[in-house]
Amino acid sequence: MLTLSLFIIGSIFGSFYNVCIYRLPNDLDVISKRSFCTTCKYQIPFYLNVPIISYIINLGKCKNCKSKINFSYLIVEILTATLFVYAYSLYGLSFKTLGYIIFYSGLLIIFFTDLKYYLILDKITIPISVLGLVFTFFQHNPFDVSILSSIIGGVIGYLIIYVIRFLFFKFRNVEGMGLGDAKLFLMVGIWLGIKSIYLILASSAITGAIIGSLIIYIYKKDKDFQIPYGCFIVIASALYPYLGSVFYNLI
Ligand SMILES: [Zn+2]
Repeated sequence: MLTLSLFIIGSIFGSFYNVCIYRLPNDLDVISKRSFCTTCKYQIPFYLNVPIISYIINLGKCKNCKSKINFSYLIVEILTATLFVYAYSLYGLSFKTLGYIIFYSGLLIIFFTDLKYYLILDKITIPISVLGLVFTFFQHNPFDVSILSSIIGGVIGYLIIYVIRFLFFKFRNVEGMGLGDAKLFLMVGIWLGIKSIYLILASSAITGAIIGSLIIYIYKKDKDFQIPYGCFIVIASALYPYLGSVFYNLI
C-alpha cells in the first residue's frame, strides 16, 4: 500500500518535472497554467491529466489533435515514480530519502533539458547545489559525504570545467563547454564529494567522445554536430554511487 502510494506520488512529481523540462527552457510559467498539448495548444482537463495512465490510455497521442506526445513524458513519469519507491526502500522515512530524491530528480530534469534544448539551467543546478550543502552540513547526505569533501568537490568540479572552457577559448576559439556544465559539476561535487569528480569527468568525457563519434559516423552528421555532453555527466553521476567504489577498489 505504501509502495503504491509512493509510486503514485512519484508519478505526479514526474508529471511536474515534465512541465519543468518543457517550460523552463522556454521561459514559461511552471505553476499557474494548466497542461496543454504542444501542437494544438488544447488544454488538458485535469481529470485526463493522470500521470502514466493517461499516456497509455490515449496511446501516446493528444486526445484532441491526435498528434504524437513525446515518449519521454512517459519515461520521466515512470522513472520518477520508481525513484520515490527506491529511495524509500534505501533509507525509509528520513532526510536521506528526501536528499536522494532531490539529487536524482535534478539529474533527471537536467538530462532531458540538455538532450532536448542543449541547456543546463541555473534554476535547477543552483538550488540543488545549495540544498546539497544544507543536507550535507546536517549530516543527511545520502551518500555519506563529509561537508569538507562536499565543499572541495563543488569548488574543484566547477573550476575544472571553467579552466577547460577557458583553454578551449584561448587555443581553439570555440566554446567547448558551457558554464552550465561547470554548474552541473558544482552540484555533483557537492552531493557526491571530491573523489567523484575525477571519475565522473573521465568516464563522461570518454563515453561522450565514443558515442558522439558513433552518432556522427552512423547518422552522417557533420563534424560540428553538438553532443549534449551534460547527458553523459548525468549518467556517470547517477551511476557513481554504485560503481565508483568498485572502480576505486580496483586501482
Ligand atoms: Zn493536440
